[in-house]
Amino acid sequence: MKYDYLVVGAGPFGAVFAHEAHKRGKSVLVIDRRNHIAGNLYCESKDDINIHVYGAHIFNTSLKHVWDYVNQFAEFNHYVNSPVANYKGEMYNLPFNMNTFSKMWNIRTPKEAQDIITKQRSAITSEPKNLEEQAISLVGTDIYEKLIKGYTEKQWGRKCTELPAFIIKRLPVRYTYDNNYFNDRFQGIPMGGYTKMIERMLEGIEVRLGVDFLKHRDEYEALADTIIYTGPIDEYFDYSEGVLEYRGLHFETERLEEENHQGVAVVNYTEGDIPYTRIIEHKHFEFGTQPVTYVTKEYPKDWKIGEEAYYPVNDVKNLDLYATYVKKAETISNVIFGGRLGEYKYYDMDKVIASALALVEKELA
Ligand code: UDP
Repeated sequence: MKYDYLVVGAGPFGAVFAHEAHKRGKSVLVIDRRNHIAGNLYCESKDDINIHVYGAHIFNTSLKHVWDYVNQFAEFNHYVNSPVANYKGEMYNLPFNMNTFSKMWNIRTPKEAQDIITKQRSAITSEPKNLEEQAISLVGTDIYEKLIKGYTEKQWGRKCTELPAFIIKRLPVRYTYDNNYFNDRFQGIPMGGYTKMIERMLEGIEVRLGVDFLKHRDEYEALADTIIYTGPIDEYFDYSEGVLEYRGLHFETERLEEENHQGVAVVNYTEGDIPYTRIIEHKHFEFGTQPVTYVTKEYPKDWKIGEEAYYPVNDVKNLDLYATYVKKAETISNVIFGGRLGEYKYYDMDKVIASALALVEKELA
């Protein structure tokens, strides 16, 4: 065997593991079927603006060890995500907080907001069974109808009554005038971009791009004792048990001859009739002052094999199917599955890194 580890996929999971293995004197080869590193964190610089090619990524975490870890590879700026929702031309602050409530009901105090929400959620008397019930029980019917229902149904391609409640619990609900989208202690965008950050992790490590492991399986499997596989777990097994479902995304990016198009990095379009969920104006992630700007419309879509997989559909059916793949994976001792695709999880970046560091502890101790 030529290498101790073959890491399939140069995204954050693979890069963190590769870095730590290399640091401990292991020989590591990283391959990726794309022609670039950094996975979905990859950014492309145009007119000196970092474009988030696979969707906007804002680093946020409460995990001190993960924050300290990433700060070895990049300095983070002071960006705080405060998206705005556009519902039929009405603009509301997100996440759901006193600014949102005040605009929605022309009220001023937390008590007034709580009274309205308590009244509106009175229909939900037991533990919420789906996303619709969960949303109404958190913020009432007005906010559900204007800011949640349309957005969620187009993002996931199914009714809120058919979606798991946990998805909406990602968002904070606050009775303070605080537009920070995250509750986490640490937040920011790596200065110089995510690609640079991953590049630093991979320094000194052999990386081969444009190599599809599954098309050259025998050749690459023969190269290393252990494989860290960060691609889709079902694809690894040739979909033998069935296909795990994902939501796909389609991005349309435009260069505009103006300095500031929407005044904020993220505007969510929450009505059901507009086919995209959000418009990203990339320069605002880094406080750009360039004379031009780039905006990206994000369209959710059904996903098919062969397309980029974005959001795992973590419903019962898919999680059961995933469990059968986990059982299969347990029968092969030289392959470890990790990351959003390998673990079929709606993972935030910090949790991906935490999971890679946990594997490092186990595997490389
Ligand atoms: N969501 C919503 N309205 C919004 C933004 C989010 O209803 O304006 C809901 C929607 O169901 C979405 C979930 O909150 O799937 C999680 O949103 P988040 O911004 O965390 O998703 P991500 O950034 O991962 O796409």
